[in-house]
Amino acid sequence: MKATNKKSKVIPIAFCLAAAVVATSALILNRMNTESVLHITQDGREIFEVDGEVIDINVNRDFILVSDDGFNEIEIKDGQIRVVNSNCPDKTCVNCGFISKNSFNKIIACIPHGLIIEFR
Ligand SMILES: [Zn+2]
Repeated sequence: MKATNKKSKVIPIAFCLAAAVVATSALILNRMNTESVLHITQDGREIFEVDGEVIDINVNRDFILVSDDGFNEIEIKDGQIRVVNSNCPDKTCVNCGFISKNSFNKIIACIPHGLIIEFR
């Protein structure tokens, strides 16, 4: 009985240590991530807001960016951003899919519309 009691105490301690390591790593990763910020530029000008609302990667929304050559429909969802639809000829921007602070690819470019969405 005593041996069983010891084991049942060791397991929660090991679990707590593991949880602490995970929490510390997450904190460090989080700090690194805060250095990566969303930037949207069109024809070299940075866009900070659309329709009077500041673009925030943490606020889910859809909006349309219109340029002289066409439009890009943008979606922000759960810390990710993508081009949903565009009338550009190659659709490279749409095919990029979602990007985020943590994704391998951190940039979406729609060259025909002079649009660049990136985390840096
Ligand atoms: Zn495009």
